[in-house]
Order: sequence, then C-alpha cells, then structure tokens
Amino acid sequence: MSDRVIPLLPLLTAAAVVLGSASARAQDEAAFSRCLAGLQGDAQREGVTRATFEQLTAGIKPDPSLLELLDNQPEFRTPIWDYLASLVDDERVADGRAMLAQWQPQLAEVEKRYGVDPATVVAVWGVESNFGRSFGKRPILASLANLSCTGRRQAYFRTELFAAMKIVQRGDVTADAMVGSWAGAFGHTQFMPSTYLRLAVDFDGDGRRDLVGSVPDALASTANFLARGGWRTQQPWGYEVKLPAGFDTSGTGRKARRALADWSTRGVRRVDGSPLNGPAEGAALLLPAGPQGPAFVVFSNFDAIFGYNAAESYALAIAHLADRLRGGARFVTPWPTDDPGLSRVDRRELQTLLLARGHAIGEVDGVLGAASRAAIKAEQQRLGLTPVDGRAGQKLLGRLRAGGN
Ligand code: CA
Repeated sequence: MSDRVIPLLPLLTAAAVVLGSASARAQDEAAFSRCLAGLQGDAQREGVTRATFEQLTAGIKPDPSLLELLDNQPEFRTPIWDYLASLVDDERVADGRAMLAQWQPQLAEVEKRYGVDPATVVAVWGVESNFGRSFGKRPILASLANLSCTGRRQAYFRTELFAAMKIVQRGDVTADAMVGSWAGAFGHTQFMPSTYLRLAVDFDGDGRRDLVGSVPDALASTANFLARGGWRTQQPWGYEVKLPAGFDTSGTGRKARRALADWSTRGVRRVDGSPLNGPAEGAALLLPAGPQGPAFVVFSNFDAIFGYNAAESYALAIAHLADRLRGGARFVTPWPTDDPGLSRVDRRELQTLLLARGHAIGEVDGVLGAASRAAIKAEQQRLGLTPVDGRAGQKLLGRLRAGGN
C-alpha cells in the first residue's frame, strides 16, 4: 500500500486548469464520461449493481491534478531521521498513551481475539491517521474513477474503484464518508478498498465494517491485518543493537535472516551490552542509515508490520512508536547527521518563524509543503547554510530561533 504516500502538491495544476480552453475541457469530460460508462459492465461482474454504479459515478468530473500526483516523483527524498522525528515525536507518544487508556477495554478484546498487543495496534493508528484526526481530504470514489480512466495504472485502480463501490453498496460506509488520500486509502487505518473488503472486521457488532466511524472496528481491523500478515503473539519486533568497531556489513538487510548465534559471533550485542536474545526463528540485521547509525535486530513481526506498508522506515516508525508507548527509550545511537530532524512541535515553531519573516507559507500546521520548503530554501540561502535544499533541520530552526542573523 505504498500508494498511500502523499507527495507534495504540484504547483502546475492550477495554472494548467486556467489555461485549458473551455472546448478542450468539454472534450475531456465527454471522453471521461464515455470511459466511466464503459466500466459499468466490469463493475457488475464484480458484484456492483447498475443502480449503485450510476449513483456513485453521477457528477464525477475529470480531475487532472490526480495524474500529476500519480506521476509525481518527489523531488526530495526524506532522510529517515526526518521521517522518524515527525512520526515518533513526544506529542504522538503522549496522544498514543491517552488512546491506550481511552480504548483499553476494546484493545484488550482485540488482543484476545487477534493476538496483537495494544501498543502495536495504537502505533499503526497513530501513524496512519494521527489517531483519526487526518483521514485525507479527497473524495475517493471520484479519485479512483479518474485513475481508472487515465494514467498508467488503470487496471489496478479499477479493482479499487469496484471495491470502494461494494463497500458503499454493502452499507459499511456511506459514499459521503469515503474521503481519504488521492490514491484511495481512507479511514482510521488508511486501508485501500480491496484491503478493506478482505480484512476489515465489524468488531463493535453493529453489522457494519466501518473503519471511518468506528474506532473499535478500525483497531480490530488493524490487528486482523497484522495477524493475517504473520504476526507472532508475544514476540518482539526486534530491538536496537550495537556493532563492534569495523563491523563488516555483508549479509545484513531485512531479508537476510540468520541464527542469533551468528550475529553474536560477529560481535553484535544488545545496545546495553548484553547478549542477543529472542525467538529461535533467527533475525535479520537492519542498518537503516548504514553502519554509523542505529542498528537493529529484527524478527518476523517486523516483517508483519512491513506488510502494512512496504517501507522499512515505516515499519521502524511503527515499531519504535509501539516501544515508546510501552515506556521504552529513544534510540541510543544517534543518526549519522549533524543536523537532526524536526518534531511536529519544531515544525510548527519553524513555520511561525518563517511567517514572522514575511514568508507567505499559509497556516501553521506542522506539515512542510511546497510553500514552506521554498521559504526554507530562501532562508538557507540568506543565512549561508548549505546545502540549500529546502530541508528543515535543527540547524535552521536554531538560527531562526536566535533571531535569524
Ligand atoms: Ca461495526
């Protein structure tokens, strides 16, 4: 479900829409309508009635901005320390602990039924939708209909479109509530519609699998996803380790699992110096930022989290947030950078400082979009900070905090 990554908003969209002539627009709309109408038969074979199909496609217009999102290659690859700094910050740990307390009875039931512990489930919830506060803003039926008729992954998006229609048709979620990411993930757990059909569960017993309106349904569905993805009850995902000086990194990486004794022989120890321990299945050694950064021994539960969204940085964020929710510590080994990343509190402070310096970056929301990045670049330039790349780190924040001179 890596489609759920939301890239920076393209700047060209607004201009392209203004420049497109009225007749070209009418042509686009006619072609889009023809394409949509042509999907009805396929939808019906997938179990979507004609009435549902017509009701859910009525009034959908071509949306050229989606194509740009689909093809957009992020100009900026987020370093893992930035990614983790905002996803696992003190705010999310505090919010997550409050959620653990608030939903304790339901989480205990979820653990009993699916064998996945509350901290892991709540960590996924926190990273996916900030505990239900950020579902995304796009009507997903309209997005999926568009992506079914344009762009390079139409077959994939048609499957998702028909799945989304079936969710509405079954009465699980209303069409109005189907709002999410541009690529179609939605709800507390940001499931894609086909995943939803396969793995969502009705846990509160009202007869609907509602991952938008029901927190218990969402928590249980997350646990069900992980359980089906090979989660092993009561086993750790892994833990931080330290490497001996001059460690040879050959044979490392998430897929290369070997006996813990092998790693021990090569001098790997728990980060407090004690010997490696854990499930007998063996472990992989993960070096997300190379041998100079934090190192981790990971077991099969790390892979189960990876299955939720195929990125190691994502899996590490979930795993680490779960540990922090249980009272665990921050990583001991620092990331190999002299300019660490910003938490969301830091990002909001940076945005406030940028506004104060006259940069029109919009509202202070802790999300560093295109306008914030442009302002950051301008300030990096002005202050002589290198590289001038629009990345926000502690160095720039520190300079601006101190008056920006
Ligand atoms: Ca329900």
